[in-house]
Amino acid sequence: MKIAIDGPAGAGKSTVAKMVAVKLGYLYIDTGAMYRAIAWLARAQNVSPQNGPALAELARNCNLTLKPGAATGVFVHNQDISTDIRLPEISELVGPVSAQKELREELVKQQQAMAHAVDAVLDGRDIGTVVLPDAEVKVFLTASPEVRAHRRLKDIQKMGLPDTFDQILKAIVERDHKDSTRAESPLRQADDAVKVDTDTMSIDQVVETILLLCAKCEKTIRI
Ligand code: C5P
Repeated sequence: MKIAIDGPAGAGKSTVAKMVAVKLGYLYIDTGAMYRAIAWLARAQNVSPQNGPALAELARNCNLTLKPGAATGVFVHNQDISTDIRLPEISELVGPVSAQKELREELVKQQQAMAHAVDAVLDGRDIGTVVLPDAEVKVFLTASPEVRAHRRLKDIQKMGLPDTFDQILKAIVERDHKDSTRAESPLRQADDAVKVDTDTMSIDQVVETILLLCAKCEKTIRI
């Protein structure tokens, strides 16, 4: 079984997807971390975020590895970049990087190979629409920009960074706009996805909602 969780930045996708994967004993694949890893590499190697073929080449040759754990470990060329890819400068760079067609084709291929023949939970922007259009359970997780900015602020403060609420809100609104208006695989809800608005829900309630959808789907499969 495959579970696709898509939605805008800060909707809680990775926290929820990880918890669902642990509960069900499935593999968790954080596709945003993969785009972030290539943005980090492009910055380190002075590759232009507009150069799709060069970015795809980086993705093919960097031995990009995700290691499951409380926080997903992200490695390129065996170097642990899990913390660096969450820095604001990478969050800014990942928008133009992830808009490149050639890179998307390469990473989608890698994501499909990782999810092949295992039960898996994937989170991202295009999982239900492009990566796994046949996923048995599709969820579109969302929340208002203000609620998402409050959640991000807490994470950023834990990292000891000085960003303010207004800066974070502005960045979220800009990233939403870029993700949903880009030509390649824009962020959109798949026709057969269930929308879950998390504004007034706790993390446990969201996880429970998704587990219920999975249980319903398993029942249907058995019938
Ligand atoms: O999920 P996260 O915020 O870490 O993703 C970082 C960025 O990677 C997103 O803003 C989006 O631009 C891009 N992304 C994407 N497709 C995915 C996952 C992430 O374009 N499947």
